[in-house]
Amino acid sequence: MTITDQRGAAIDLRTAPPETMAPQPAIVIDGVSKVYGHAGAAVPALDRVSLRVAEGEFVCLVGASGCGKSTLLNLVAGLDRASHGRVERPGGQVAMMFQDAALFPWLTVARNVELAMQLQGVGRAVRRARVAELLELVHLGSFADKRPHELSGGMRQRVALARALAQEARVLLMDEPFGALDAITRDLLHDELERVWRETGVTVLFVTHNVREAVRLGDRVVLLTSRPGRVAAEFQVTAPRPRRIESPEVAAAASTIVDQLREEVARHGRH
Ligand code: ADP
Ligand code: MG
Repeated sequence: MTITDQRGAAIDLRTAPPETMAPQPAIVIDGVSKVYGHAGAAVPALDRVSLRVAEGEFVCLVGASGCGKSTLLNLVAGLDRASHGRVERPGGQVAMMFQDAALFPWLTVARNVELAMQLQGVGRAVRRARVAELLELVHLGSFADKRPHELSGGMRQRVALARALAQEARVLLMDEPFGALDAITRDLLHDELERVWRETGVTVLFVTHNVREAVRLGDRVVLLTSRPGRVAAEFQVTAPRPRRIESPEVAAAASTIVDQLREEVARHGRH
């Protein structure tokens, strides 16, 4: 389905991604279900979710709180096992980012980033050079010797991004990474993340409950419904980059998605 009215000009509604445009997949999620607990206390969190993320693609996963977004990311990261179905990561090394940067407070910015490489056995000279490069990439070159408490929340998330890339990650799994930031800082981080994505060619699977944020960032927005989480719809975002979260185009596309989300909720009953 393609929206032809003015409101939907920035997105294209499809039931499936256009296969012809999809190169090698970096993430394959195939009929994945997840049930927590057993028997009487079983919580079905995901129900037959299938999703492919192409190499270099930026996919945003949106849905209400509790719909299974974190569960799905954890399965992709290999932190937990699916009850049914298959998860593959042909795109290579994955790294996770969360709302909390989770830096070691007693280590400097540079050492926090370096530690990821040290644990992988990378030699000291190579590590140092790479840390400098990564801190430049996230515009924190002059903060290498600071400690986390001396940084703002946005800067700490940029350190976390540098640390994720230090693990030679080719796939970034981001679980509401900017959820705790104020709007201005978050906008800035959107620009930064988009630039890093473009410059490094990494694949991004980005989870948010903020539909506008998803439209601001994603090549594609995948909508999950609740209890259990199912893929309800996919939207190809066709508005040119860089997008502004406050732009009428992003707002219109987001409201179309929200309308669809409402319909889905109405159809499946309230939760
Ligand atoms: P989201 O990230 O979209 O907010 P989650 O993936 O955290 O959703 O949770 C999906 C559902 O699974 C929720 O109903 C939640 O309560 C449940 N859930 C998540 N983790 C566990 C767990 N470890 N044990 C039992 N239930 C869980
Ligand atoms: Mg979550």
